[in-house]
Amino acid sequence: MTKPLVAVLSGAGISTDSGIPDYRGPNGLWRKDPEAEKLVTYEYYMGDPDIRRRAWQLRRKNHALRPEPNAAHLAVAELERSGVPVRVITQNVDGLHQLAGMPARKVLELHGTALEFMCTKCHARGPMEDALARVEAGEDDPPCLECGGILKSATVMFGERLDPVVLGEAAAITKACEVFIAVGSSLQVQPAAGLAGVAADHGARLVVVNAEPTPYDDRAAEVVREPIGTALPALLRRLRETAP
Ligand code: ZN
Repeated sequence: MTKPLVAVLSGAGISTDSGIPDYRGPNGLWRKDPEAEKLVTYEYYMGDPDIRRRAWQLRRKNHALRPEPNAAHLAVAELERSGVPVRVITQNVDGLHQLAGMPARKVLELHGTALEFMCTKCHARGPMEDALARVEAGEDDPPCLECGGILKSATVMFGERLDPVVLGEAAAITKACEVFIAVGSSLQVQPAAGLAGVAADHGARLVVVNAEPTPYDDRAAEVVREPIGTALPALLRRLRETAP
């Protein structure tokens, strides 16, 4: 018998122990601060050089913090290394699952990644480090070196569509998995909320690990309210030991 495919859907709550606040969630920092929200809203970003200059300074500041993966990210990577097929679907843009040791091809980033920049015109991409080095050197809104277009981080801003290819893969994994663990997500915004429902509809064992109640707790086989940094490693250890 093959080991059960485990899908881990992670939200902001898995990275708070790494010092990264919840920006995007329903009660996240951006939603509470209209000025900050403009920095991550496509229309404002594209239309206002001053917004872009402020966004680059913020990226510089966030990048300098160099967050590290925490016990929860490490536990997911360890489960994968133990031979259990694991796929991560994440709402986070921090790259911490990969930094913890998850192979990049097994991590789907629904909202893109803050570790790369991309051109809004020709879609050229590169390491965020490179763009930030140019900001550091005095270009306060560095244009694309290929085409002169406006650069942004490779994250999905408000007003932008999610990548349909990534979404399609996330849906396929959700339908195929036997265990679906939603961790640190309020499951109140799409597509995360929808995925939890699809997992339950397709007969996966739904486990919710979140400090606050979610709309899917009723459909979950197990709900864990304990802190993610200790609860998730314990849960995954148990899963590893009982996997056939
Ligand atoms: Zn370009």
